[in-house]
Amino acid sequence: MSKRVVVALGGNAILQRGQKGTEADQRENVRKTVAQIVKMIEAGYEVVLTHGNGPQVGAILIQNEAGRGSVPAMPMDVCGAESQGFIGYMFVQEFKKALIAHGLDKEPICIVTQVEVSSEDPAFANPTKPVGPFYDEATAKARIESSGESWIEDAGRGWRRVVPSPKPINIVERKAVRELADNGYVVVASGGGGIPVVKSSDGSYGGVEAVIDKDLAGELLAQQVDADLFMILTDVPKVALRYGTPDEEWLGKVTIDEMKVYQSEGHFKAGSMGPKVSAAMAFVMNGGSRAVIASLDQALEALEGTEGTQIVKN
Ligand code: ADP
Ligand code: MG
Repeated sequence: MSKRVVVALGGNAILQRGQKGTEADQRENVRKTVAQIVKMIEAGYEVVLTHGNGPQVGAILIQNEAGRGSVPAMPMDVCGAESQGFIGYMFVQEFKKALIAHGLDKEPICIVTQVEVSSEDPAFANPTKPVGPFYDEATAKARIESSGESWIEDAGRGWRRVVPSPKPINIVERKAVRELADNGYVVVASGGGGIPVVKSSDGSYGGVEAVIDKDLAGELLAQQVDADLFMILTDVPKVALRYGTPDEEWLGKVTIDEMKVYQSEGHFKAGSMGPKVSAAMAFVMNGGSRAVIASLDQALEALEGTEGTQIVKN
């Protein structure tokens, strides 16, 4: 039986640092990313793909703000859904081209995915994640006054809205993702960490103004679609100890107990490598056989265990 892998792509898979973010820029990056992922499919793996959306949803929020005077601005959950649709659309088209070129008779599909969070999550009392455009102090203060939103002064660059980053507890469309993967589809799901929703007493869902970490949501997706492997692809070849210092040490194969020690020593930065390491460890601690953190351009080698940081049971 073929192995199922959930792949969580970093921001660099869709937009490189320094690029403007034109449609052509993003499509070219998606094309290069797909060229890596298709190698896994060709090697016989079943792939479920998830991705970040930070720069894309950021651009949508700026468009909404700029257009406020002529068309109604949309709430964050709707902006998240828009970003999943546009990124998923590019992936599905580029996948189809690559699958045809490799003679693989498979269909790609994108699922607009909701991810349940708890309304009791402590993150709602402490919004930390900056989103959208920068503003001057007067505009920010007026928005705080009129909307009750939380804003912060961001490192001298101006004022920015902050939203909560609650923990993902359930992938709403997990059954559809699993069944599509069972039937041979290449599924793109839970983009940007999923659209955060809260469950009502009747079992239905409603969107909330928040952002879910895509690595943590990717791990939950991997668990809920019974993945054999969970892979996080980013812009560094491995996880490092003492990252960015002269004594930097890249990690190869690491057990959960070893990783716990490194984690407690503070090697992994919150907001970048921190959530990746936590997500990878969670997958293995929840019964997954192996999790991998590697660079996008070594995806297949990392999947086969010769590159990247391999996180395994003790
Ligand atoms: P992504 O878009 O893939 O989620 P992030 O920027 O969030 O990317 O995380 C990847 C970045 O994490 C790397 O580019 C690197 O600068 C940073 N990083 C922080 N700590 C470490 C570490 N200990 N080892 C490797 N990279 C680290
Ligand atoms: Mg990140």
